[in-house]
Amino acid sequence: MKYYVNENCIGCGLCAGTCPEVFEITDEGVAKASEAPVDASLESSASEAKDGCPVGAIEEK
Ligand code: SF4
Repeated sequence: MKYYVNENCIGCGLCAGTCPEVFEITDEGVAKASEAPVDASLESSASEAKDGCPVGAIEEK
């Protein structure tokens, strides 16, 4: 599974707090998902981050 962050992101930081291995806040103040496929061991926390995004900005790729 891969994820990407769409233009709805408001930079709240929740995803990076929930799954920092996959999501980071860039210098532009919005989140970015790792380009690499998410390791199986991180899938549940990445999915939790996706579900927890308050504006639905995280999508599966
Ligand atoms: S949880 Fe959603 S709105 Fe918040 S930083 Fe992550 S992608 Fe952006």
